[in-house]
Amino acid sequence: MNKKRYQLTKSDVIEAIPLACSNELAAVEFIEGQRWGKTPGCVHCGSVDVYKMLDSNTGERNKRFLWRCKDCGKQYTVRIGTVYEESRIDLRHWCYAFWRAATSKKGVAALEITRHCQISYKSALFLMNRIRFAMAPDKKAGKLTGTVEVDELYVGGKPRYKGVSKRGRGTSKTPVFAAVERGGKIRRRVIANITGETLKQAIQEEVDTQARLITDDFPAYKFICADQQGGHHTVAHTTREYARGDIHTNTAESSFALVKRGIMGVYHNVSKNYLHRYLWQFDFMWNNRGLNDGERTARLIRVTEGKRLMYKAPAKRAL
Ligand SMILES: [Zn+2]
Repeated sequence: MNKKRYQLTKSDVIEAIPLACSNELAAVEFIEGQRWGKTPGCVHCGSVDVYKMLDSNTGERNKRFLWRCKDCGKQYTVRIGTVYEESRIDLRHWCYAFWRAATSKKGVAALEITRHCQISYKSALFLMNRIRFAMAPDKKAGKLTGTVEVDELYVGGKPRYKGVSKRGRGTSKTPVFAAVERGGKIRRRVIANITGETLKQAIQEEVDTQARLITDDFPAYKFICADQQGGHHTVAHTTREYARGDIHTNTAESSFALVKRGIMGVYHNVSKNYLHRYLWQFDFMWNNRGLNDGERTARLIRVTEGKRLMYKAPAKRAL
């Protein structure tokens, strides 16, 4: 389809990352470079009058890779203000997980991180959960515009031909809602059920009223979308019509195919309670599909900033 996609694009990130995955100093300096560029300002006061702390015995960088600010006198590391701040897992393992997570379309299983990094399964899960959390959508992002396809899927299987009577069946399956701009962004989320009210709320929260909306002919959509200012078109899945000109939901359906392959093939199954995190990961991949692997990895490292996964109870210093 797009020839450019198959061209090899040189990337500094991809060149640097194998070393960063095997050597802790290289990992720290790689992440520092990605986060701070050439001028690592003090995270406490913003001063650029800072220096790397050295080990007095070896003259090498301090074991904790600390920086110190001459203005405020405080110390800090590159972990501050990121999803890995509370973690003791080596940054080289984080680098590996960032790389894999940002370049694997179907996702990456914690078990694979366990084997490749030789860390415990618990640590690998911790790491992947935080990476998925970092991939969560930006709450400040606007609603979807242009031509927007809306569809829904039951994770655990959806009949190819979904007659009206088949909807809502299978209580063990989790309904997922998707709204996707043609040639643009996607938003997927777990929903409680597939009722008119739930779908209406999801559409109102994700889709601009000026957007041209396309759904299948599930009767509830007719009612929900009656006020859609950009218009509402339906494709008659109940009579096995899959496209009428550009009226189709193929983009949404193919986006679901990737989720299904990932959930069934890589993760084997995902609990209802955690499914939303996996959707963040799939959405991140979709929304950054125009970037090459190096750019996507760099983007992922940047979005780990300013995000801290909060626990219900104050946790002990984690893993
Ligand atoms: Zn300072």
